[in-house]
Amino acid sequence: MGCSTAIFLARKGFHVSIFDKEKHPFSAASRWNEGKIHLGFIYSADPSLRTASHVIPGGLNFRPLIEELVGTSLAPAITSEDDLYLCHRDSVTSASEMMTYMEKVVERVRAHPDAKRYLADVSDCRVQRLNSSQLANLTSSPDIVAGLRAPERSVETNWVAEKFISALAEEKLIELLMEVRITAAHPTGDSAEGTWSIETSEGTFGPYDYVINSLWQGRMAIDQTAGIEPTGTWSNRYRQSLFVRTRTTVNTPCAVIATGPFGDIKNYNGRDFYLSWYPDGLRVDSSDVLPPDIKESAVSDSQALKDSIFQNLESLLPWAAQVREQAEYIYLEGGWVFAAGQGLLSDPKSTLHRRSDYGITRHGRYFSVDTGKYSTAPFLAKSLAHSLAE
Ligand SMILES: Cc1cc2nc3c(=O)[nH]c(=O)nc-3n(C[C@H](O)[C@H](O)[C@H](O)COP(=O)(O)OP(=O)(O)OC[C@H]3O[C@@H](n4cnc5c(N)ncnc54)[C@H](O)[C@@H]3O)c2cc1C
Repeated sequence: MGCSTAIFLARKGFHVSIFDKEKHPFSAASRWNEGKIHLGFIYSADPSLRTASHVIPGGLNFRPLIEELVGTSLAPAITSEDDLYLCHRDSVTSASEMMTYMEKVVERVRAHPDAKRYLADVSDCRVQRLNSSQLANLTSSPDIVAGLRAPERSVETNWVAEKFISALAEEKLIELLMEVRITAAHPTGDSAEGTWSIETSEGTFGPYDYVINSLWQGRMAIDQTAGIEPTGTWSNRYRQSLFVRTRTTVNTPCAVIATGPFGDIKNYNGRDFYLSWYPDGLRVDSSDVLPPDIKESAVSDSQALKDSIFQNLESLLPWAAQVREQAEYIYLEGGWVFAAGQGLLSDPKSTLHRRSDYGITRHGRYFSVDTGKYSTAPFLAKSLAHSLAE
């Protein structure tokens, strides 16, 4: 979010300083996530379609915006097949509710003026329910009760991260201040409409014409120092997943076990894979304004955790074993998921199933951005840069 905003602003003539507590940009959630470019299909527990409607414009415009930002085609990073949604028997929505919901989402997607701009053209897309033999080819588990193919794709987030790092280096108006932790933000004078300064582990920086807080987890702690009190409910979940490279090409589909605390497998290009099993990978679930330091809870290289993620996926999708058998390396990596919601994914009433409350809050010349999703970041960044340049 911060890097996208910085590049858009620099190209409009702003001098931008990017602060990050890590050694390199893109070391956190935006490198270590699944890269699903959401059109809303996963949010069947929000039948109001508010979540889907909110994420669709960002999802459809992700590709052209990233290509504009990094100056190269996104094609090599895009999954080649649509995602399979496999309905678990403990899903928070039944297979028929899921199908009805997805049909409504598809109508919205098809009708959107930017439908041709998605990772693949979705202006004439459909949801397809798998017949029994198609489903039997994927799994014999009685826990999977239906399969739906939805026109949703993903990108390989590591590939995108590397392109961003190169693009940032080309921007003469951007300075990177790495390994600097932000601790507070204040107006330099009496008014929030004047300039701002920030407090960091390396001292005070500023004055700045604008401060944009896109820190993701812990963002609200800085907001409090700036005069914005948290409202509503929220949670910060630290999730670990597997990022696998195989020695040879493995032809497996991209499948999401939905909807609830299950898992998924993503095949980006036949050799790079993402695998998750939600209950195993969830290391922290905190509703503190400032979540705890992950180093205490994150497992950095536990063979037991890796084995468990594979075993749980393989018990439902036996072909996932091919990825393990062919693995050249398996990284266990993680990132935070901030959400304006709380609860358990197994609970249909959990507000985590409704993800429509994200976006930009303004306090004078201080902006705080709840990115929402990876897929929505470039769209929000463009809109923020546009409004600052007006
Ligand atoms: C396992 C997992 C799977 C996911 N899957 C998807 C998906 O398929 N599709 C999707 O759209 N989204 C997905 N997400 C969510 C997505 O990763 C995030 O919404 C998105 O990456 C947030 O981007 P961001 O720039 O706001 O945060 P980040 O990429 O985390 O960037 C925030 C930056 O702020 C820095 N920072 C934080 N605090 C401070 C501080 N105090 N001082 C200085 N620097 C600080 C961090 O080091 C980091 O570089 C997933 C997340 C996880 C963890």
